[in-house]
Amino acid sequence: MELQQIKLFKHFFRLNHFVYLDNNATTMVSNRVRRVMNRVLKECFGNPSSLYEIGRKSGRIIEEARQSLAHAINADAQELYFTSCATESNNAVLKSLADYYYPEKNKIISLPIEHPSVLNTLEFLKTRGIVVEYCPVDGHGRVKAAELAKLIDDKTFLICCMLANNETGTIQDMRAIAKIAGTRRIPIMSDCVQALGKIPVDVHALGIDYASFSAHKVYGPKGIGALYLKRGSPFMPFLHGGHQENGMRAGTESLHNIAGFGAACRDIGKLLALAEHIGMLKQDFIARLGEIKKDCIINSPKEDCLDNTVSVTFPNVKNAELLTVLDSYGIAVSAGSACSAQDDKPSKTLKAIGLSDKATKETIRFSLGHATSMRDIRHAVRVLKNYFLGKTLFVNMIDSAQVDDAYLSDTCRKFIIDVRPQFLRKMVACLPNSHEMSFARLEKHLAEIPKDKDILVVCHTGDLSYVVAYYLKTKGFDRVASLRDGVVGWRNQRAMASRGDMAL
Ligand code: PLP
Repeated sequence: MELQQIKLFKHFFRLNHFVYLDNNATTMVSNRVRRVMNRVLKECFGNPSSLYEIGRKSGRIIEEARQSLAHAINADAQELYFTSCATESNNAVLKSLADYYYPEKNKIISLPIEHPSVLNTLEFLKTRGIVVEYCPVDGHGRVKAAELAKLIDDKTFLICCMLANNETGTIQDMRAIAKIAGTRRIPIMSDCVQALGKIPVDVHALGIDYASFSAHKVYGPKGIGALYLKRGSPFMPFLHGGHQENGMRAGTESLHNIAGFGAACRDIGKLLALAEHIGMLKQDFIARLGEIKKDCIINSPKEDCLDNTVSVTFPNVKNAELLTVLDSYGIAVSAGSACSAQDDKPSKTLKAIGLSDKATKETIRFSLGHATSMRDIRHAVRVLKNYFLGKTLFVNMIDSAQVDDAYLSDTCRKFIIDVRPQFLRKMVACLPNSHEMSFARLEKHLAEIPKDKDILVVCHTGDLSYVVAYYLKTKGFDRVASLRDGVVGWRNQRAMASRGDMAL
């Protein structure tokens, strides 16, 4: 194989290295969870409320899952209720307690760094007469305990304080907070979504009265959460209907999801055992970042921080652009909470810990997971380094809809290269006016490619063309783009468009 060809293949493998550093947004469903869920979907269709055996079997699956979660957080199984997600759990507690206490008591104290499922619910409650006061946090997002004590008054009925923050990884000193709340007999509600599986969560020892959890942050399925209600704590059901979940949450249970959550909880011990290793990878990553970008600012605290999470500000680097570049190199990270990813507003958490609007737009959250390897870290650092050195080549992606007839017939200004092997070209015909240049022999064709035209590289489904387009960029072809979904996607899009025309 020629040297250039080896280089081309190297590019291919590098660009195909997928690195997932967004485990606080969600996690990949583990094999064990998937197996359990598949089995339940296949074998257990009985309604858990039915009295005959297949119903009772479904009921037993739910109780086993409940036991597994109870064991993971040191609660009694009777204190746990399954919900559709942690957002529902947070809503249910906040709205229910507001109903229960209002108007005798009307104040909730919370933190400005809470997840949107809490902050937006609190905003809603304000419109119903609830007074919400936010306790100030320090530069790392830790509660200022003295300020918290000052905010409590006779009208306060709840302190709502997350255990670990999703953007910075900051862990609160919940025992100290519970002590302050305890002296005034104020219940505590804690969003424990990010803490589960990353640090030990013992609801009794922490002294919390209400807590929310979500399966998809611990390698379980999406669409299933849980609510911990300390025995005897007031709560008014959010959903009314059947008697499910002991009358606390009506609706036929999502059996396969609950089973998946239970299976994920049985692995919590293993996840906790991995935390130290993940922490070492994170420290290595931080050290390398400091070498390649000396002015970067680590927003996450050194102590009392989740081992997997680091929030980093890269001054004068727009995070939106950096995210796109990282994405194009197969590295998935986010600017902050996944629930706010579509917002253009600055992160409330980052603002609360003192970042300017500009700095919030220059900040990225990296969150490692149990599958993160040293190779992943090195790959991410290499891509970041090249980007900061201005060496990253960015390949434009063209959508099928952008490749209209005018584009295809404009041979004076456009040059289309089809890099598929012969057998794929036989399966699906090429785009009109495209030049066939097989990937493996591309080096030989370089001289035929014009530098003064817009080059569109196409392949079967859009992966290989991206690599080739990138490679052409390294060879000095500036105006190169890749067809996002390949020839197959382009033909499907055409077929759909013409069906749409006919329907009209
Ligand atoms: N709370 C925190 C801290 C989170 O990170 C998330 C998820 O991003 C949620 C709540 C919401 O969880 P769910 O997706 O189960 O509604």
